[in-house]
Amino acid sequence: MAPENISVRCCIAGGGPAGMVLGYLLARAGVKVVVLEKHRDFLRDFRGDTIHPSTLEVMNELGLLDEFLKLPHQKVYELNAQVGELPLTIADFRHLPTRCGFVAFMPQWDFLNFIAEKGARYPGFDLMMEAEVNGLIEESGRVVGVRANTPSGAFEVRADLVVGADGRSSIVREKAGLQVKEFGAPMDVLWFRLRRTAEDPVATMGRFDSGRIFITLNRGDYWQCGYVIPKGQFEEMRRQEFKTFRAAIVKLAPYARDSVHDLRDWDDVKLLTVRVDRLIDWFRPGLLCIGDAAHAMSPVGGIGINLAIQDAVAAANVLFQPLREGQLAIDHLRRVQKRRGWPTRVTQGLQVAVQRRIIARVLSETGPLKPPLAARLLAKVPFLRRISARIVGLGIRPEHVSPELLRS
Ligand SMILES: Cc1cc2nc3c(=O)[nH]c(=O)nc-3n(C[C@H](O)[C@H](O)[C@H](O)COP(=O)(O)OP(=O)(O)OC[C@H]3O[C@@H](n4cnc5c(N)ncnc54)[C@H](O)[C@@H]3O)c2cc1C
Repeated sequence: MAPENISVRCCIAGGGPAGMVLGYLLARAGVKVVVLEKHRDFLRDFRGDTIHPSTLEVMNELGLLDEFLKLPHQKVYELNAQVGELPLTIADFRHLPTRCGFVAFMPQWDFLNFIAEKGARYPGFDLMMEAEVNGLIEESGRVVGVRANTPSGAFEVRADLVVGADGRSSIVREKAGLQVKEFGAPMDVLWFRLRRTAEDPVATMGRFDSGRIFITLNRGDYWQCGYVIPKGQFEEMRRQEFKTFRAAIVKLAPYARDSVHDLRDWDDVKLLTVRVDRLIDWFRPGLLCIGDAAHAMSPVGGIGINLAIQDAVAAANVLFQPLREGQLAIDHLRRVQKRRGWPTRVTQGLQVAVQRRIIARVLSETGPLKPPLAARLLAKVPFLRRISARIVGLGIRPEHVSPELLRS
């Protein structure tokens, strides 16, 4: 039987970090909300496993931190790199003015399942899996709901507010006709896993060498690896023998000389086509976009998840009361964009600068790599690692759950 049409105060398209945290916060504040997620569960390909100090602080404010940290995770206190021959620490989280001076590495599905479980405590929280939004319902220029498909049929949700939290390929923003500004990126990333042995190094690392950047995230018994290549080069790489790729990995990470043979062929490698973009307007009457749906982030700094969650916290702070009271106005949506627009602009500006000045240069280098000025400064002036830790760990404008929402 097809699901029945429903009516809620807020309908969120997409159960990623932004959608789930917003759904949880609104339901906690007494708003009737439904989150529609197209997948059957949260188990998917790697999409970043980082829970940043700012998110851990939010969990603390919500009284969920101790329970959350009982889930299996690795604590990463600093990010290290080797640029050419220069070893350096890029960011040191220990000094952040937060309860947790580390990034918790945890599979994203564990985080999302945790939020879903906590949301289910509230009567207003409804999470529908395998519900794919495919259209908006509009009346007199206002978005008043969505159409969605499930394996058992189509249905409609009517809502005072539709939130597009459906990620970088957002159908909601496309259907709403919101204009996107693209910033471009000089690289793509190949993601894959390598077995980790007791003899391997422990640090989460970025290795910058002429023409290549190799990121290795320590995930206990395996490495989550990101191999950064010049944009569009993947097709050409695929035409070469796979052993050439394996050899390139071993050159950057000699300890992987055995485990690299676990990679059988290109099917074991996933391409992330890097995109950096931002909506000009994040809202229309009856509709708001947040997270990657409003701004696809570059992987530089690994900060897409905390930005998405901060959008959710800011949106919940502004919207919970008007939604609960049925008093939502366009001005409330404008306030959300005003609050989150400039931290997004600044963060993307920094990412684009790093892409142009460092990544593009490293990727086009053919001779020995001379560490860029930023790397030399980070190596020489330890205090700078605290600034980078703030930008990565907390973000430009960390958000806190408002006392009114916490009390409600
Ligand atoms: C390979 C990779 C590695 C990354 N590494 C990191 C990292 O280390 N650190 C970091 O901070 N960020 C990382 N990111 C970025 C990060 O994943 C995103 O910035 C973050 O997940 C954005 O959260 P979101 O909730 O806005 O969107 P998403 O996480 O994309 O969630 C959107 C959700 O909407 C669902 N959806 C999509 N369309 C529909 C529809 N029509 N109907 C219903 N549901 C729909 C999707 O299934 C998904 O669950 C990485 C991304 C990728 C792809």
